[in-house]
Amino acid sequence: MAQQKKKIEPKTLISEERIQARIRELAAQIDQDYADSDRLICVGVLKGSVFFMVDLLKQLKTPIAVDFFQTSSYGAGTEPGEVRIRKDIDMSIRGKDVLLIEDIVDTGYTLRTILDLLRFRGARSVKLCALLDKETRREVEVPIDYLGFPIEDVFVIGYGLDYDQLYRNLPYIGYLETE
Ligand code: 5GP
Repeated sequence: MAQQKKKIEPKTLISEERIQARIRELAAQIDQDYADSDRLICVGVLKGSVFFMVDLLKQLKTPIAVDFFQTSSYGAGTEPGEVRIRKDIDMSIRGKDVLLIEDIVDTGYTLRTILDLLRFRGARSVKLCALLDKETRREVEVPIDYLGFPIEDVFVIGYGLDYDQLYRNLPYIGYLETE
């Protein structure tokens, strides 16, 4: 008989209510800081940031444009910390205000690479909004301008974050308990 895969129920780390409440606070802060902006370019990093980005941007009153990067996870044939851009943004950002939106900052290599690239291309300002920060794991400095929640060094899933491409659609941040 074929072996049945045991369904593992994730534990909750940050509830849907806490996430949504924090997003409302972040959106209010961002609206206040960009009160004079007529176009803020919000750049997400695929795929993990999408759920957070959609909920955050729906709360903003500031006029925004939306674009995306996709980076490759470092694997065989890459140096530690080497980040490859798999999909570039479509828009020109020269002279524009850019808000980079990310799900989680871990070692910091992904965002360091993207932030440097955005500045190199002549953005007027570049700020970072991240839902989660695993600060103890940081290897390169990445200042976070708007942070949802600092977390411990635990592998999290849900609300955009995956484990083997699954669990992204959980409305909360969770973790899988190993036996
Ligand atoms: P960094 O370049 O900061 O080390 O890595 C950032 C990326 O690693 C995130 O965008 C995310 O894709 C992945 N990552 C880091 N920590 C976690 C985690 O706890 N859970 C999941 N699902 N992905 C993570």
